[in-house]
Amino acid sequence: MRLSRYFMPVLKETPGEAQVISHQLMLRAAMIRQTSAGIYAWLPLGKRVLANIEKVVRREQDRAGAIEVLMPTIQSADLWRQSGRYDAYGPEMLRITDRHDREMLFSPTAEELFTAIFQNGAKSYRDLPRNIYQIQWKFRDEVRPRFGVLRGREFLMKDAYSFDLDYDGAVHSYNRMFIAYMRTFAAMGLNAIPMQADTGPIGGDLSHEFIVLAPTGESDVFYHENWLKPRDTSGINADDRVGLAAFINGLNADYAATDEKRDLAAEAACGAALKQSKGIEVGQVFYFGDKYTAPMGVTVQGPDGAPVTPLMGSYGIGVSRLAGAIIEACHDDAGIVWPEAVAPFKLALINLRADDGACAAACDKLYADFTAAGIDVLYDDRDERGGAKFATADLIGLPWQVIVGPKGLAAGIVELKRRATGERIEVPIEAVVGRI
Ligand code: ATP
Ligand code: MG
Ligand code: MG
Ligand code: MG
Repeated sequence: MRLSRYFMPVLKETPGEAQVISHQLMLRAAMIRQTSAGIYAWLPLGKRVLANIEKVVRREQDRAGAIEVLMPTIQSADLWRQSGRYDAYGPEMLRITDRHDREMLFSPTAEELFTAIFQNGAKSYRDLPRNIYQIQWKFRDEVRPRFGVLRGREFLMKDAYSFDLDYDGAVHSYNRMFIAYMRTFAAMGLNAIPMQADTGPIGGDLSHEFIVLAPTGESDVFYHENWLKPRDTSGINADDRVGLAAFINGLNADYAATDEKRDLAAEAACGAALKQSKGIEVGQVFYFGDKYTAPMGVTVQGPDGAPVTPLMGSYGIGVSRLAGAIIEACHDDAGIVWPEAVAPFKLALINLRADDGACAAACDKLYADFTAAGIDVLYDDRDERGGAKFATADLIGLPWQVIVGPKGLAAGIVELKRRATGERIEVPIEAVVGRI
């Protein structure tokens, strides 16, 4: 993409409305603009980040055997009456009336709809286990939308729903999502700690929240310092029920809990290794058995012909919140420092002298070569001073910068800068595409 033809209205000043660094940087880097309280337009750079986060989430869901669908955002109140949540949910639910006076709502989560769709399609025990998911916008009329996309009213969520015949199977489905979440967050450069959590309006008796430690987080969390080291999940086979359960039990042996689930005895056992801090909830997994299937009358025919009520779990990831959470974890004084997997482009190609024919020709050629090699490049071909180009490249945080100026070019050299470390090296121009 040539910056001269892109839509990236970066801001020089930090907008006064933004209190936390990720919100400030998302506005300054032209990723988002607020259109109403807690509702955001995603500009091109932000849209690319969101798509990359989705890509990682989708890859790990698919790898865990979950099946993607897409449900409507607007749902009927009747469906929510069947579970009893229409009245219970309270003012966070945005309620809508259509022209025929039918009560509708904008989905804040989707247990009821997934349960109904599953009931419609699954007839026998052979149709289980299944895990079905979507990546879809949700709306919650939060009392205090704030911190940009970290607490929006409209936000993008991955929500998955598992259906099993028995408790052991349901726990395995839960564990599969647990490990998929660890892999998802690690792939985005985050150390998200799974913590014992309260189940809130979703209900149920087994739950973990995945928390990214950050001073700007809204959750108070308590954990053993072992959690500060990222865990290696590469050797884990999620199809091995016993091995997976043993691995997760091993993880849970290190204490980690949100403030609603504190265990003072476990904390005392941690001794000096107990840590307390703030964190951002980027995902949550729940097991809640027949909380929805029983009141909604869902059964399948069991192997012996008798009806069985499926046991469910649900599993959420805050896809749009992650864009903010990653920035909270990955930034410096100059701007964002994107982990490779979610960066909007892999590199910035910076022409220091757009008015110099040789520089422009060399950059045009590099741009074509990078593109041919399948590398996403943002090419700063604007007629601007070098300093302004550097500042923009640092602000938007692409992992690499390739800097082309007349002096180096005369010697056949360009500069390669790694955004994360600031380290710059000189590379022969013909070797630079191969270096990335
Ligand atoms: P919170 O405690 O932050 O209000 P929640 O526990 O109400 O979140 P869940 O029902 O567990 O949220 O939804 C799954 C995921 O959706 C959360 O883990 C979070 O990442 C994301 N999420 C929830 N509410 C918001 C919001 N208002 N803005 C952005 N993301 C959100
Ligand atoms: Mg909430
Ligand atoms: Mg929560
Ligand atoms: Mg939650």
